[in-house]
Amino acid sequence: MREKFNGHSSQTRAVPVCFGTLPKRARIAAMEGKCRLSRSALAQMLKSAREDSMHESCGLVAGRDGLITNLFAARNALASATAYEIAPPELFTLIREIRAQNLELLGIYHSHPNTENIPSSMDIERAYYPDAAYFIISPKPDAPKPVRAFRIREGNVTELIIEEVG
Ligand SMILES: [Zn+2]
Repeated sequence: MREKFNGHSSQTRAVPVCFGTLPKRARIAAMEGKCRLSRSALAQMLKSAREDSMHESCGLVAGRDGLITNLFAARNALASATAYEIAPPELFTLIREIRAQNLELLGIYHSHPNTENIPSSMDIERAYYPDAAYFIISPKPDAPKPVRAFRIREGNVTELIIEEVG
């Protein structure tokens, strides 16, 4: 995973924009993989999405040995309810911070304030990190699954089973 997110700025791409368009649902495969997440990381994700339900909130998730324990909140450079982008300078800073803490970047999270929390067409198109877990959060109190995680590889979406640890 670490190599995929190497710190050479020329190779680090901006995190995707999501326009909240209707997702291509047929491309979401059944749950296969799992991702492990600490209870506090899960709670922080929800908190971040609910604190600002007017805009998509976003950030990176990191941990060790595949267990996600830390959230690194980012500013949504687009300040939009239907799209997000982490500006490259902030992305580099966060990646450096993750390394400084001896953690590995394991995924990216963002919220869908007004639409179902599944990948939008743009989320799928701009999923540049095939090994990342893409978390999508719904701030809505009636969301059946407020936090969902997906693997997005070459246009194929697989939902991941979230295993809450600790
Ligand atoms: Zn999205």
